[in-house]
Amino acid sequence: MSFKDFQLHHGILKAVQQCGYETPTPIQSEAIPKVLAGSDIIASANTGTGKTAAFVLPALQRLATKRRFKKQYGKPSILILTPTRELANQVNQAIRNYGKNIRFYSVILVGGMPYGPQLRSLSQPVDIVIATPGRLIDHIDSRRLDLSKVELLILDEADRMLDMGFVDDVNKIADLTLDDRQTLLFTATWDNQLSALANRILDNPERIQIETEPTQDNIEQRLHLADNLEHKNRLLSHLVDDKELTQGLIFSATKVGADILAQELIAQGHAAAALHGDMKQGARNRTLMNMRRGRLRLLVATDVAARGLDLTSISHVINFDLPRFAEDYVHRIGRTGRAGALGTAISFVLPDDAIHLARIERYTGQKVDQHVIPGLEPTRALQQRSRNKKRKYGGGKSAPQNRKYYGSPKRKGGRYNQPPAHHNRRQDNRTMAKNPTRS
Ligand code: AMP
Repeated sequence: MSFKDFQLHHGILKAVQQCGYETPTPIQSEAIPKVLAGSDIIASANTGTGKTAAFVLPALQRLATKRRFKKQYGKPSILILTPTRELANQVNQAIRNYGKNIRFYSVILVGGMPYGPQLRSLSQPVDIVIATPGRLIDHIDSRRLDLSKVELLILDEADRMLDMGFVDDVNKIADLTLDDRQTLLFTATWDNQLSALANRILDNPERIQIETEPTQDNIEQRLHLADNLEHKNRLLSHLVDDKELTQGLIFSATKVGADILAQELIAQGHAAAALHGDMKQGARNRTLMNMRRGRLRLLVATDVAARGLDLTSISHVINFDLPRFAEDYVHRIGRTGRAGALGTAISFVLPDDAIHLARIERYTGQKVDQHVIPGLEPTRALQQRSRNKKRKYGGGKSAPQNRKYYGSPKRKGGRYNQPPAHHNRRQDNRTMAKNPTRS
């Protein structure tokens, strides 16, 4: 199958070719024809499978072929909900890339950014809104945004959205859109809560299950046993001196830990920075831009960066702290080996991390090899689990049901994504495809 078989608008096809894509990925081959035919879909696909284009291309096709009699001010016809600001930015970037040859207006509404530019952009024509639920509800409540014309609703990483406690917001948002809309739900995992949401907001959906290994073959995974924090620091200092590490993403369990580690790396002479949810959105965007432009070599992040982040040049992911949940591990290591490149994922494992390592190995179905660096050998072994502590943990699809809010940004003041203190950087969120060729 080729992209031509989808009979996409020539401007979209041209943009896809300009991205260098030759053939659709499995999720794209399965989803795009169904979405173009108007079906609701539930697609189980991990990040890294090309799922963004699977919903962005048909969404753009809808705009490219629609006859619009009048401009819609603050009334989008397409709404894309994402759990995090980073993922929203990523989707927005994909929309710009794939839609650069057609005319449309898109607006991104995420927390942590000033309200002014978002309000201005909503007083102008808008076709697509990409948003995190919290900020979207704020705009709806202030009557700046009207969802009554939304005919295509897309939930990206719906499982993550529910983990963050957004279920009521998502239901409320769906209720404000057209009854006969088309709804697309993308998720990496499945549980009862998601099933209830899907029953409520989707109409006779087609199911797409992409049978991919949770971890990709192009990512080499290894672990180092570490005795304690001091040992982890020495291991990290050694590993980041590796010339083969072009850019590294280092995961810390806590925001404070990420800050401290970034400072230590800077003190050692590395171009490093931290990325976590306590930073203002402007600072987060600048940090990512510096990483993209190669001004930074090491980024120390919390799980806020585990999903959605698409930096193709990351050669190494280092789990300075092993994640507690196997899915988080898969998302973290998926930040390397992007678009088929080779990647290395290294995890530091403390003696009492044994249970978490076992979960990860059971979930991925892969054993992670232990490596030892001469001079940095561990002196303690992994602690075996005692029998009575052993819990039933089915791994694979049952794992998410055991999830708690580990690694998820905390809800503050009753809502996640509350804006941090106002800052002055003015930025217009409203974008219009440049050099449009009239559709
Ligand atoms: P996603 O799963 O949407 O985050 O996409 C993962 C990566 O695959 C991104 O870097 C995309 O640019 C890339 N990608 C998406 N579709 C294709 C394709 N058909 N061929 C090659 N790369 C692709």
